[in-house]
Amino acid sequence: MEVSIESSALENLIQYYHDKKLAHAYLISTNNIAKCYEVLLKVIKNIFCVNEYVDNCNKCSLCHLIDVHNLPSLKVIEPDGTFIKKEQILELKYLFSKDSQYTKENIYIIKNAEKMNKESANTMLKFLEEPDGDVIGFFITNNKDNVISTIVSRCQNIDVNFTNSDFEELGLNEEEYNNYLDTLNDYLTKIEMEKSKLILYNKECLGEYTKDDIKILMQMALKKYKEALNNKILGKEIKDNLLFLDKLNINNLKKKVNLLIDYLKELTYNVNLDLLLDKFVIEMEAINNESL
Ligand SMILES: [Zn+2]
Repeated sequence: MEVSIESSALENLIQYYHDKKLAHAYLISTNNIAKCYEVLLKVIKNIFCVNEYVDNCNKCSLCHLIDVHNLPSLKVIEPDGTFIKKEQILELKYLFSKDSQYTKENIYIIKNAEKMNKESANTMLKFLEEPDGDVIGFFITNNKDNVISTIVSRCQNIDVNFTNSDFEELGLNEEEYNNYLDTLNDYLTKIEMEKSKLILYNKECLGEYTKDDIKILMQMALKKYKEALNNKILGKEIKDNLLFLDKLNINNLKKKVNLLIDYLKELTYNVNLDLLLDKFVIEMEAINNESL
C-alpha cells in the first residue's frame, strides 16, 4: 500500500493489528472525513484481504464486499438527519452480539462522531465498556471538541490531516479543474513555444473567458511556475504536463512568478480585461527575450 505522510497514522494500524497491539477503539480527528474514511477502508481491506493485499484488490470476495458496502461484519454509521441516533447504536449492538463470520473481528465505523447526542453516546459507552475483544471501532470526526468527552477518553486518539488537492484549493471540482488545465496548457504552450502573433492567442484561447476564469488560470499558472522554480533551485527534474517549464531557467521562472503575482493583483481592480491580457503576453515575451 502506498503510504503518504498524511495518512501514515492510519496505515500504521495495519502493523499494530498484526502485532496484536491494536486498540479496541480509535478516535480519528481529521480535516477531511470523506478522505479519511476512504483510507480507513483500504486499511481494513489490507488487514483482512484473503490474498496478499494489493491496492484496489477486487479479486477476493472480502474486498469486493467492502467495496460494495455489503460486508456483514463491517458496519458504518453516519448521522441520520442531524444526529446519530440511539436506535442506530442499538442496531449495531444487536448485529455485533454474534461473532463475526467474515472477519476475525467485527468492525464498526462511526462517521461524524461529534453528531452523537447524549442518548446515543451513552448507549455507545456501554458498548465500548463491554470487554469484547472481537470488536474494533473507529470514530471519525472533524470536530473533536464536540465529541462527548467520555467517548474521547475511552478511545485511542489519532490525528489524520490531509492537504487539499489543487482543485479543492481553487474551489473547483476535478472536472472543472481539468478543463481549465487544458486551456492553460494550450495557452502557455503557445506563449512559451510559438513566439509569433502572441496577442492573437488571447482571443484564440481565452475568447469566452470572464475575469473570474482568467483569475483561476493565473492562479494555476502561478502555482505551476512556482513549483518549477523550486524544483530548478533544488536541482530536481520538473515533472509536469506543462512540458516547456523544464526549458526555462531560474531567472526566467522568477520573473514570471513575479509577473503573475502582479497580474493577479491587477485583476482585483476594475481593469479592461482585453488590454490587460495583451499587456500580459507582451511582458511574458519580453522576459523570454531577456533570458535568451
Ligand atoms: Zn482482497
